[in-house]
Amino acid sequence: DVTATKGNEFEDYFLKRELLMGIYEKGFERPSPIQEESIPIALTGSDILARAKNGTGKTAAFCIPALEKIDQDKNAIQVVILVPTRELALQTSQVCKELGKHLKIQVMVTTGGTSLKDDIVRLYQPVHLLVGTPGRILDLTKKGVCVLKNCSMLVMDEADKLLSPEFQPSIQELIRYLPSNRQILMFSATFPVTVKEFKDKYLPKPYVINLMDELTLKGITQFYAFVEERQKVHCLNTLFSKLQINQSIIFCNSVNRVELLAKKITELGYSCFYIHAKMLQDHRNRVFHDFRNGACRNLVCTDLFTRGIDIQAVNVVINFDFPKSAETYLHRVSH
Ligand code: ADP
Ligand code: MG
Repeated sequence: DVTATKGNEFEDYFLKRELLMGIYEKGFERPSPIQEESIPIALTGSDILARAKNGTGKTAAFCIPALEKIDQDKNAIQVVILVPTRELALQTSQVCKELGKHLKIQVMVTTGGTSLKDDIVRLYQPVHLLVGTPGRILDLTKKGVCVLKNCSMLVMDEADKLLSPEFQPSIQELIRYLPSNRQILMFSATFPVTVKEFKDKYLPKPYVINLMDELTLKGITQFYAFVEERQKVHCLNTLFSKLQINQSIIFCNSVNRVELLAKKITELGYSCFYIHAKMLQDHRNRVFHDFRNGACRNLVCTDLFTRGIDIQAVNVVINFDFPKSAETYLHRVSH
């Protein structure tokens, strides 16, 4: 569903030639609807609150204006992109690097769970665009090594998640380091009412883009099986033998259950990786990277993994454990 509605072209936005080259080389022929809505508005400097389904191209909707606005001759962090997970930080920085391939824009990723010292050293080198999780960026900022006084664009991807109690205090503190002419762009597929307070305070008059007719699961065929706990593995085995699986993601509700199930699946003779929050970051990155490159057919994980992750080859999602909320379900399956 990444198709244009207004018939705009990327040329219409008068982007830097090098950026346009990166866009086309990435294989984007025309802007998707969320990109058509966001890019021109973001370029005007306006705050944006944008809501669009998963898989509609939100990443490029903020990366393109971010890359366009960065003055590569100015050695300063000019854009910060906040995301809730490490995997998403890596994926987003990758998109920035690809789109900005012909620009001389320095992109840095920083997330909790990695060496703070390495990040401090890295920050002695030029950084134009910083992608990361709120806690770490706040840490570096408070230490004075990350300087945000020239950062005029703050992007919050998966914004509703970033506004949860886990992240929101850090973000509010971080915003105090930004210059007064800053612009804030919020993107998500779901915006609960709790967003209102934050919005009223920090982006009181945003340009609102809402491309959700409703929370649909169009194009996704859903099935359920009613099984007792002790029958679940057996049921999964049956599914594996009946389904045409290209790659699958299987969700469990706890770290323990992820590990146990991964072991079971391997014993059944299916290739299987797993990811959860208690693994070392390097290891997590490697598994994620290998899975995305098709090294393995199945991935067992916790909800840590649901947000914004885009792996085209996944055609089956299994909720081995029942999701805790309707929203969790949506994020799990509507990749
Ligand atoms: P979202 O954040 O809305 O879930 P993503 O930004 O992850 O979506 O994009 C989903 C997929 O669509 C990615 O594989 C991306 O490369 C692709 N995509 C994005 N914009 C375009 C475009 N204009 N033309 C073609 N493909 C696109
Ligand atoms: Mg996304």
